[in-house]
Amino acid sequence: MRILVTGGAGFLGSHLCDRLIEQGHDVICLDNYFTGSKKNVEHLTGNPRFELVRHDITLPILLEVDRIYNLACPASPVHYQYNPVKTIKTSLLGSVNMLGLAKRVKARILQASTSEVYGDPTVHPQTEEYWGNVNPIGIRSCYDEGKRVAETLFMDYHRQNKVDIRIVRIFNTYGPRMHPNDGRVVSNFIVQALQNKDITVYGDGSQTRSFCFASDLVEAILRAMEQTDSIGPINIGNPGEFTILELAEKVLKLTGSKSKIVREPLPSDDPKQRKPDISKAKKILGWEPKVNLEEGLSQTIEYFKKLT
Ligand code: NAD
Ligand code: UDP
Repeated sequence: MRILVTGGAGFLGSHLCDRLIEQGHDVICLDNYFTGSKKNVEHLTGNPRFELVRHDITLPILLEVDRIYNLACPASPVHYQYNPVKTIKTSLLGSVNMLGLAKRVKARILQASTSEVYGDPTVHPQTEEYWGNVNPIGIRSCYDEGKRVAETLFMDYHRQNKVDIRIVRIFNTYGPRMHPNDGRVVSNFIVQALQNKDITVYGDGSQTRSFCFASDLVEAILRAMEQTDSIGPINIGNPGEFTILELAEKVLKLTGSKSKIVREPLPSDDPKQRKPDISKAKKILGWEPKVNLEEGLSQTIEYFKKLT
């Protein structure tokens, strides 16, 4: 098949491009390089089945494709809050443009949604039926509400125009090719530990997250795209739940770093707990994560060691 990956030069997009090329597809990797980099896909650039297109999905584009994976959107709070208006435009206008393209060329389209649609959840663990607890006017809203409206657009294009959609809700995912200045917790802690700098825990570190390794995530979204039992939404993540303080301690242990843990203020609207219920993914995709946190952190640490 000919497959479009928007945000294909980003962290997850580049791993997805790798897998699609391995499977024998033709891949068009589209990116505006806001948080992604050509370096993430440079090993693919000589391949005749791989094409790189500089484009911003807030503008329309016409390409003949069979599948669209819509991953374009900055994912780190630091980056999505840098230009919040642009962030919401990417989810809103970008989804309209990509859904319009899917409708026109009759492509199946998958949206990379997020656990952020659950906001600061009052239901734990989060199931797909939960509608969420999201602040519509806070500093995270450009991302959270953008992703929520994107889900609405996907469902309405499906109901109104019969567009063949898939929605996956991705929980915190980490791994090689995260940008060293990405600002998300796993890359921050590893880079700080390797440089023997202070480990910056925001708040008291009791907030929890569930961390999924990139290879597990990519396997799940490939399966979500190709199955025909559910359009979603389907939660994708690793149900192992850790406090941010536990994560800091694991990174210190695995790196053997001399860094000290310091406290910094908790950003507003920072969700207190997050853990996916992945029963639906297990049933529909026959999938569950294979890589545990220690193993995934070790691989990610090795990647960052080579960069520094
Ligand atoms: P990333 O920032 O590494 O990748 C996003 C990519 O999109 C980058 O290459 C960036 O340059 C590109 N991009 C941003 N705006 C664009 C635009 N307007 N037009 C074209 N390209 C644009 O982040 P990631 O972690 O790889 O996330 C990929 C997708 O998965 C995002 O949609 C994100 O919201 C979603 N997601 C990721 C996680 C996670 O933990 N990694 C969790 C939930 C959802
Ligand atoms: N966090 C932290 N130190 C950092 C970066 C993040 O303590 O240097 C915390 C952050 O406040 C949040 C959690 O780690 O509670 C996950 O943050 P991240 O930005 O990775 O993702 P998200 O909040 O979107 O889940």
